[in-house]
Amino acid sequence: MKMNLLSLTLPELEGRMAELGQPRYRAGQIFEQLHRGVAPRDMTNLPLALREVLMADYHLPAVARKLVSAVDGTIKYLFSLSDGNCVESVLMQYKHGVTICLSTQVGCRMGCAFCASTIGGKVRDLEAGELIGQILAAQADSGLRVGGIVLMGIGEPLDNYDNVLRFLRLVGDPKGLNIGYRHISLSTCGLCDKIARLAEEDLPITLSISLHAPDDETRSALMPVNRKWGIDTLLSTCRDYWNKTGRRISFEYTLIAGENDSPAQAEKLAERLNRGLRSRTETMPIHVNLIPVNPVGERQFSASDGRAIKAFAAVLEKRGIRATVRRKLGSDIDASCGQLRRGEV
Ligand code: SAH
Repeated sequence: MKMNLLSLTLPELEGRMAELGQPRYRAGQIFEQLHRGVAPRDMTNLPLALREVLMADYHLPAVARKLVSAVDGTIKYLFSLSDGNCVESVLMQYKHGVTICLSTQVGCRMGCAFCASTIGGKVRDLEAGELIGQILAAQADSGLRVGGIVLMGIGEPLDNYDNVLRFLRLVGDPKGLNIGYRHISLSTCGLCDKIARLAEEDLPITLSISLHAPDDETRSALMPVNRKWGIDTLLSTCRDYWNKTGRRISFEYTLIAGENDSPAQAEKLAERLNRGLRSRTETMPIHVNLIPVNPVGERQFSASDGRAIKAFAAVLEKRGIRATVRRKLGSDIDASCGQLRRGEV
């Protein structure tokens, strides 16, 4: 991979200035401007020769295609990266602000049966600067200012742990984009070793767990990762995470007609969550986000109907679990959960 200035922390940029025989204070000037979306060529407070040298290491994703939802204004970008690979990002406008859904890998190797992002497997991990770059490029194109981030696009963020952690430190830097960790959610299919590691990082982000089934047989059929870490292990890892960080965890549950959406399965889910999460920590708030499965061309699954969804949610609520149905944005442009894929330009 080419070196990317957007991946560097301030101390690393200071090191780069030393290599280039530049004064150290330049690093701060450059860092602040980079993360405001200014290209080195336009950094008028730098000597011309330095701007040229820096341009060689500046790689912003380019907008290869852009679709705007006629329904809700959601914008889906196809970005092409410096090596020609493409990923998608989605800009969503809510009443309280703008949130961006970022991709963390080109493709995905987790193999979930209902998800478009994994078709074709994983090509490579994204670098921290390519995550920052998705935000800067989307802001520059849309004129909107991003206030929240969900790591819920293409890829499994915890399968690209080091780059994602570096990204989280960069994006929260007060001299950088300065996005508060409480406005950042990371979603994982359940890599338990990495969840345990994340608990040690002292980052008050929100963790989302893609659960999607109340028992191991159903979950393993939908999500191969469950064969490595079953539901009991996953829930005890979540309980430890909560004990350590005090941060609430939310669960995502994709409702697929006839597969995981019966009232009996809702009972089982509630029982499992209450037993697995609350035994030592009675007060842990549990929140389940229900997502009617979105159609993916290659897959056979269809979404549960409104009545089944309501009934499922009612069972959870009755058992003390908060259940909400995720509002669907960008459905007319295939920008909803699980519909993002590695596009070709
Ligand atoms: N790899 C991470 C990040 C992806 S987030 C994870 O698995 O959590 C995307 C969310 O959408 C996940 O909860 C995923 O399971 C869900 N999803 C995938 N395909 C979907 C589909 N076709 N319809 C609805 N949700 C889907």
